[in-house]
Amino acid sequence: MIDFHCHLDLYPDTSSVIAECIQRKIFVLAITTTPLAWEELRKRTEGGMRIRVAPGLHPELVPQRFSELPILLDLIKQSPYVGEVGIDGGRNLKEHYGLQVNVFKEIAASCASMGGRVISIHSRNAAKDVLDVIEKTPDIGIPILHWFSGSKNDLARAIKLGCWFSVGPGMLKSAKGKELLNIMPRDRVLTETDGPFVEMEGSTIMPWDVEKAEHLIADVWSISHQEVQETLIQNFTKIGSFAKSVSNGS
Ligand code: MN
Repeated sequence: MIDFHCHLDLYPDTSSVIAECIQRKIFVLAITTTPLAWEELRKRTEGGMRIRVAPGLHPELVPQRFSELPILLDLIKQSPYVGEVGIDGGRNLKEHYGLQVNVFKEIAASCASMGGRVISIHSRNAAKDVLDVIEKTPDIGIPILHWFSGSKNDLARAIKLGCWFSVGPGMLKSAKGKELLNIMPRDRVLTETDGPFVEMEGSTIMPWDVEKAEHLIADVWSISHQEVQETLIQNFTKIGSFAKSVSNGS
């Protein structure tokens, strides 16, 4: 199983979640919301050969934490994976929208200058501006739009720009989410949970709940659960090879 967008460090019991991910052999991209969390989480996940930790700066935290941008830009040199980054067009963030766009532009430019990165991107209510940055930064690497919720036109443009997508039970419970999934190229889809910020049947979503996403994908694509798993592993392998090709042996 693959959970390509999970906030492992924000579970109240991070250690036991990490231990269970290792025991269940789940591939996890542990994204962070501040670059300051990266080092600590790397240490805590050292025993997990299937866990990668990505330095990020969540767009919702940009107004308070944009001074940490230089730290993130420095970590981008070391890590082939970056996230969570992006732009949020929510009403409460309107005042700082321009700042978010500028921060995301700098992050994208930094990824491009390193030969490209695998980037987990937040684009809620901001698909157009996120895609503008991606379009203007062709060497950004592999942009993965997490929980994409834009319009079908935005999606068509994202596909044209070479974007990938990570989808989870939270997104796929809506008819719109399923409709978008049906349009996404099957060779550019990964699973995610966005845990712990999603509730499922009254409890917090866990990385192994990506299995529920696999079943939902099987329904939408009208193929077997096993075929979905095979496709996801193939996709994941491509991402892994790209990450390896751009990392300096670290
Ligand atoms: Mn997230």
